[in-house]
Amino acid sequence: MTTVADAPTPRAEASPTYDFGPATGLVCRECGAVYDLGAAYACMECFGPLEVSYDFGTVTREQIEAGPSSLWRYSALLPVSAGSVDEPNLAPGWTRLIHAHNLAEELGIQTLWIKDDSGNPTHSFKDRVVAVAQSAARRLDLGTLSCASTGNLAHAVAAAAARGGMKSVVIIPHDLEDGKTVTTATYGGKLLAVEGNYDDVNRLCGELIGDPLTEDWGFVNVNLRPYYAEGSKTVGYEIAEQLGWRLPKQVVIPVASGALLTKVDKAWRELIELGLVEDTEYKVFGAQAVGCSPVEQAFKAGHDVVRPVKPNTIAKSLAIGNPADGPYALDVVRRTLGSIGAVDDDAVVDGIRQLARTEGVFAETAGGVVIATLKQLIASGELDPNEETVILNTGDGLKTLDAVIGQVGPTATIQAHVEDVRKALA
Ligand SMILES: *Cc1c(COP(=O)(O)O)cnc(C)c1O
Ligand SMILES: [Zn+2]
Repeated sequence: MTTVADAPTPRAEASPTYDFGPATGLVCRECGAVYDLGAAYACMECFGPLEVSYDFGTVTREQIEAGPSSLWRYSALLPVSAGSVDEPNLAPGWTRLIHAHNLAEELGIQTLWIKDDSGNPTHSFKDRVVAVAQSAARRLDLGTLSCASTGNLAHAVAAAAARGGMKSVVIIPHDLEDGKTVTTATYGGKLLAVEGNYDDVNRLCGELIGDPLTEDWGFVNVNLRPYYAEGSKTVGYEIAEQLGWRLPKQVVIPVASGALLTKVDKAWRELIELGLVEDTEYKVFGAQAVGCSPVEQAFKAGHDVVRPVKPNTIAKSLAIGNPADGPYALDVVRRTLGSIGAVDDDAVVDGIRQLARTEGVFAETAGGVVIATLKQLIASGELDPNEETVILNTGDGLKTLDAVIGQVGPTATIQAHVEDVRKALA
């Protein structure tokens, strides 16, 4: 039997009829061993995680700018493209970058931008990673999309499978928000709620990969993880392009598995390498909730190893106690001279309300974590309020209404009389 700790032999091999764009293979992040493109995620030599390797050739700004208004404009920088009608998908990405004047003024920060990924088709940044993984699944002839999810990924996988005419089996902890379970279930795939937390779900998926039952399943964040993770790079590409092909000085990114944080950095290094942006220095900051802050704890303690924790926070989309990319996130933050903050649940709710009140953006709990962390980093002097800063809002508040229910409500409940309005507003 295969467990997560064993390195499984890849069963699905790349079909020669499909195009993997500039991707050349999979490479071990630890020992550098190289593998053919396939549904593999762990090195057979050292169990290290695999990452897509590329031969980009020449890529120009004009070529990208002429592309579609979705993440597929960056096909030349991804392991797959899916521009054709033969590959129906949700075409996520190209979300807005908001100049947040009002919030900036309240926080005493000079230039603040919000990359608002709540505008994706299923209202979180997870549509990006799923689009790339789905495209890889097609190329590997895997007919069922699956995942271990903290909620947003469940929603994104179920919707992408429906749109793409694929089956789906989505596995989640049993105690997620209705905004994530009801939405996911409506797309008609299979939804399994496990009596356990995300880390139990993830372990189960690792075991399922060795089972004949899952022969044609692509677990987007397990055996397709190298492709999935590349989807996160598009957040970084878009920020740079939307700023007029340049990098900001500081960025604050919510951390669950740590993939998004590491891939925004990877995207910017690629853009520098390709000569698409000027080589300027930037600092990467991470944001976690106190109730699940294994990466922040390792950062503060000066450790390279991330010790697993048992999550207990309202920020369920970030509640991964044993983050796969935690050590790599630490590397990025330390290399760029950033840092990682952690904030409590009350501060998360305040952050959600402040962002809504100042910018008209209703964020989910992960967005609240970012706003609260931004404030903490300014107060501690770790983030410089005089340098241009981008923060990420990765999900829509409509999915986590529970966070604010009971905190807000009607100003008054009145009779339909002008006099009552006058009194209520006095
Ligand atoms: C998954 C998720 C993240 C972070 O993702 P990782 O790549 O696992 O760190 C951030 N915000 C939201 C809303 C998410 O769903
Ligand atoms: Zn290796």
